[in-house]
Amino acid sequence: PVVRDVMGEKVITVDESAGIIEAAGLMKQNERNHVSVLSNGKLVGIITSWDISKAVADGNTDTVNACMTKNVITCSPDETIDVVAKRLTEFKISAIPVIDSNQNVIGMLTSEHISKLFTRGK
Ligand code: SAM
Repeated sequence: PVVRDVMGEKVITVDESAGIIEAAGLMKQNERNHVSVLSNGKLVGIITSWDISKAVADGNTDTVNACMTKNVITCSPDETIDVVAKRLTEFKISAIPVIDSNQNVIGMLTSEHISKLFTRGK
């Protein structure tokens, strides 16, 4: 299969200027651990529940921009799942934003989506 067949299509995003409490609220409300960060509609980072835990543990309740990872590893919807699964392992990440040719975020592929492939129809 390719990424577009497996990814989550409901894209949850937060602006980089938002506070981390807002990002945490989005994670809770949508039952997600990873949120794409946008600036002027373009992907500039990713913030995860781990990043928020770290910020809280460090006593830092700053903006999303200060806590996010800026070098985002992404994939295209047309890549095969095995290629992208190797990318997740290589970079020690569990989610990857899916971007189209205009750099718009159109989905998120997580290790949960990949796990589900193995139990389809069972
Ligand atoms: N191993 C755990 C996991 O996969 O969620 C937690 C490790 S934590 C150090 C993972 C770091 O990778 C976080 O700081 C997070 O912002 C970052 N990260 C997650 N997905 C990413 C992606 N697609 N591109 C770049 N960094 C990412």
